[in-house]
Amino acid sequence: MTSSSTTETIVALSTPSGVGATAIVRLSGHNAQHIVCSLTKKDAFVPRYATLSSVYDNAGELIDEAIVIYFAAPRSYTREEVCEIQCHGGIISARLIIEACIAKGARLAQPGEFSKRAFLNGRLDISQLNAVSKLINARSQKAAKILIKQLKGELGHFVQDSRETLLRLLAHSEVMIDYSEEDIPSDLIISLSSQLKAIGEKFERIFEFSSMRQGLFDGYRLSIIGKPNVGKSSLLNAILLYDRAITSPIAGTTRDTIEENILIDGHSVRLIDTAGIRDSRDELETKGIEKSIQTFEESDIVLAVFDASNGLDSEDKKIIDLLNTHQQKPCIIILNKSDLGTKIDFEDIDKMCEASYEYLKLSAIELEASALAIKKLLSDLLQRDETLDQGVLLSSSYQLQAISQAIAAIKNAGDELRDLRLELFSYNITEALQAISSITKPYDISEVFDKMFQEFCLGK
Ligand code: GDP
Repeated sequence: MTSSSTTETIVALSTPSGVGATAIVRLSGHNAQHIVCSLTKKDAFVPRYATLSSVYDNAGELIDEAIVIYFAAPRSYTREEVCEIQCHGGIISARLIIEACIAKGARLAQPGEFSKRAFLNGRLDISQLNAVSKLINARSQKAAKILIKQLKGELGHFVQDSRETLLRLLAHSEVMIDYSEEDIPSDLIISLSSQLKAIGEKFERIFEFSSMRQGLFDGYRLSIIGKPNVGKSSLLNAILLYDRAITSPIAGTTRDTIEENILIDGHSVRLIDTAGIRDSRDELETKGIEKSIQTFEESDIVLAVFDASNGLDSEDKKIIDLLNTHQQKPCIIILNKSDLGTKIDFEDIDKMCEASYEYLKLSAIELEASALAIKKLLSDLLQRDETLDQGVLLSSSYQLQAISQAIAAIKNAGDELRDLRLELFSYNITEALQAISSITKPYDISEVFDKMFQEFCLGK
């Protein structure tokens, strides 16, 4: 842990460069107040008070009039001595002030160094650091609301509770490891195994719920899939209301994915028009088809398009098979070209499609009506995401990876417990502990000893 009495003082502009009426220069480190006092010719600042101050450079020349706020350690963002100088915006004032701070002994901060110090000094855990960086780039109001809760420690509490449960399991196992099999109480094994099952299921729910909602944080990816010539590109154009993709009556024209961003109710949605999926011998087309399937798999939402004016054929069936492989993925089925008549209906699709879906029958040539209908359905779908509030929502891929590692380790631990292989059970619980702890702060082996003493008063 870094102590505020020994840290170098760092300085940086913490607002965007050159934009806005005011800018904030931030200093952190044991000399922060001293440096700012010297720039402003003051003896000291009252902590957490805004003080209007004239700022002078090293030659004693006035460079700006600014508001200084001093945060005494440890009640600051980094837990060190921190000063914030709110100066005039633009590109000159802040630069002159930073140069003056450097001349007085501060050094320019590296990217993320204030947050790094906050972490090293125990002010923020890793989940809160992640929330800070995601919050700065948040793509929707809902994402910002979730991230602010994470910043306040909501995710940290969930991890802490999970660690407690896993540590208790581990402590029990460590105590029984040297017992002979007959001495291990069977009701204890039953209890451990039901606790293990409960925590495993909880992790799985959170993993699934969070995986589906990563679009809230990074923007949603929507793939448009279907066999060639059903009107995928025409629908993309309709949604964008301008001709972005080349449409053509010749099947197989879209051989690469075409991507465009739109905003729906403040959510960023990336529309990806894919090459038509069908059996093909053409090498280039086959590559395009492989990419389409990959795009579909990686997308958060899928728009599956069928030609209503023709009956369902084996190529359409392939698309439905694909939807069936990813039943959790939110799906909108479109029966297009309805102006040319209707040979298929949703009942026909229902018979084959096991995934749940929303549906629309329309005609892509009616640009505005199609765009409105699709956007309305998408808006409802994203809205539904917003109202589902299940408490814990993981906001980044490293957190998802951590929880999926914990799930795998818990599964293995369950198998070992069933066969009373307690050492291997402990090993897997430790793996789960390490994985889940990586979301906030690394697991420390001494924690299990603490737990053993608390639970069993070994040696009293
Ligand atoms: P894609 O291969 O699935 O992307 O299909 P396109 O969007 O390129 O469309 C194939 C052909 O069908 C083009 O000639 C379009 O103009 C036509 N088309 C697309 N949607 C409709 C529609 O709703 N009604 C009619 N009549 N033609 C359509």
